[in-house]
Amino acid sequence: MIYFDNNATTPLDATVLDKMMPYLREQYGNPASRSHAMGWVADEAVIIAREQIASAINAEPKEIIFTSGATESVNLAIKGVFEAYNSKGQHVITVKTEHKAVLDTCDWVSRRGGEVTLLDVDKEGRVDIEALEEAIRPDTILVSIMWANNETGCIQDMAAIGQICRSAGVLLFSDATQALTKTPIDVQSSRIDILAFSGHKVYGPKGIGGLYVRSKSPRVRLMPLIDGGGHERGMRSGTLNVPGIVGLGAAVELGVSLIHKESSRLEALRDRLEFRLLHEIEDCVLNTTAHRMPHVINIRFLHVDGEALMLTFNQKLAVASGSACTSASIEPSHVLMASSLTEDEAHSSIRISLGRYTSENEIEEAFHIIQQGVQKLRSESPIWKMYKSGQLT
Ligand SMILES: *Cc1c(COP(=O)(O)O)cnc(C)c1O
Repeated sequence: MIYFDNNATTPLDATVLDKMMPYLREQYGNPASRSHAMGWVADEAVIIAREQIASAINAEPKEIIFTSGATESVNLAIKGVFEAYNSKGQHVITVKTEHKAVLDTCDWVSRRGGEVTLLDVDKEGRVDIEALEEAIRPDTILVSIMWANNETGCIQDMAAIGQICRSAGVLLFSDATQALTKTPIDVQSSRIDILAFSGHKVYGPKGIGGLYVRSKSPRVRLMPLIDGGGHERGMRSGTLNVPGIVGLGAAVELGVSLIHKESSRLEALRDRLEFRLLHEIEDCVLNTTAHRMPHVINIRFLHVDGEALMLTFNQKLAVASGSACTSASIEPSHVLMASSLTEDEAHSSIRISLGRYTSENEIEEAFHIIQQGVQKLRSESPIWKMYKSGQLT
């Protein structure tokens, strides 16, 4: 199977697994054990991982908190700020195209008596900086804006957003799960106060993630979600997942070292696939073109259902569709709907996310699989025939 669904999850890099292995086998010490070498060795490994991650985003090692993944990090950031800054205000600003981890946690804020403003985005998926500025009120305690979107690859102007939040004295949290190791991140120059990330989106292991929490100017306070032994500066108790942490640190260090090489390689592969799709398949349109990550294509094919198209791939090609299955039905993607697409357009979209192991051959093969699928569905479609004969616009 050709795996073009790297925004859903990435494979574990073999060199990262090698670095984890000793901590899954013989080095099983608890880093909190201060009285023997088994503990010290584990603690040393955690210190190194913290340094690797901190240096990747221009932070201090003590500002990195380990969690079970980005969903937990997002929950800790938003709920933690809401609980700790309650007396200052209860207003949170976020964006309609955020990941469900953020939107659902913001629903929790509303249920707890807080107020949430959901900003719109333009056709390219970007937040309007002036609209953000206008939305900030005296009781605003947090702005939550993702760095890069998982569905469209759209990258926000975090430097401009950071400037506005800092001058307004409002904390800025960014879900950077899709951005870390894909695009350069500097929490100082972008004035980020809290930043979430995850191991399995960066060729690291699943079940590990982290949160950058600024320690000075300003010092961010977070109410913990999990109480216990006071690990991670009291913000996240529980024995540390040492193999996961070692893997996360190694994956982030490796990913950042490859950023420039991989961005240009993936951009060339993406452009090649995109060129063929756009030039050799009729009525196909890119959903985002500007400000996007180099490995993501979100594209739609007129009068073709994305879910049906994926079925034609017969397990030879893995991509994601512009629809999301909920318990009751298939809903159009909230991200595409917020980016001014119609329901039909969202349902006719697919997301292609290339990755570290994508080859030129796979690009060619995937193009043919997609082309054949679109042709097959259109040849069977009465609507397409009506459209082609001019009976539809
Ligand atoms: C995958 C993802 C998450 C959730 O991460 P987990 O580590 O799987 O909990 C959150 N936000 C974005 C943007 C993601 O892509």
